[in-house]
Amino acid sequence: MSNILEVRGLEASYGDLTVLRGIDFDIADGGVTTLLGANGAGKTTTLRAICGMIRRKGEITFEGKRIDRMSTENIVRLGVAQVPEGRGTFTTLTVEENLQLGAMTRPNDKSIHEDIEKSFHFFPRLKERRTQQAGTLSGGEQQMLAIARALMLRPKLMLLDEPSFGLAPLITKQIFEILADVKREAGVSMLIVEQNASLALGIADHAYLIETGSIVMSGEAKAIREDESVRASYLGY
Ligand code: ATP
Repeated sequence: MSNILEVRGLEASYGDLTVLRGIDFDIADGGVTTLLGANGAGKTTTLRAICGMIRRKGEITFEGKRIDRMSTENIVRLGVAQVPEGRGTFTTLTVEENLQLGAMTRPNDKSIHEDIEKSFHFFPRLKERRTQQAGTLSGGEQQMLAIARALMLRPKLMLLDEPSFGLAPLITKQIFEILADVKREAGVSMLIVEQNASLALGIADHAYLIETGSIVMSGEAKAIREDESVRASYLGY
């Protein structure tokens, strides 16, 4: 399988604080990769660095093209969509209006309508609530809306920051099942940053472990799940 994204020697800092110390990783085309690590390890910073939301050093190659000097807007146009932690939906707009805004990069009415219907195929709960204000949705529904909105960009790669954040276990499980459907049916590659290692390793093909800004382990998700030290530190059994 070829790689949709290749990252080499990625460094990032906030002022004097070095957060990423030259990390390397790949995301296979059509695959799900997860980046695991404790609080503050640098997971969110990695996602921000890929889409140019912070200054970074190193090489980032998307579909064979260097993107490490590009603006966030241009990176998004190439097909890289972020689903930020905390969701970032427009709370005073309806579900449907949020989805329409998600397609801002190609303002063509007909295809937008078709894509909204496609999103509702993955998220029937949102279809029932299409006229409801986003701010009045439950936490799980807001997470669904954030993912659905990212899909409106017709992304090739989705970067998801803690999709389980603040959600009850049952809702989290449903969201991961939908992500598995999106991977299978829409063929979207994904990088999932998660603290819930068990869930993330269940959906991922490949996993990387980050500790204080360095990759300390990588391998097939199955092998990582069986590793003794990962079990003790991240899986709790
Ligand atoms: P979490 O799971 O808690 O979100 P994380 O692995 O995503 O953790 P990051 O958010 O990447 O971690 O943060 C890495 C380090 O960078 C932390 O020490 C954090 O305090 C620091 N940091 C993050 N954002 C900023 C910022 N805007 N300014 C200064 N320091 C920051």
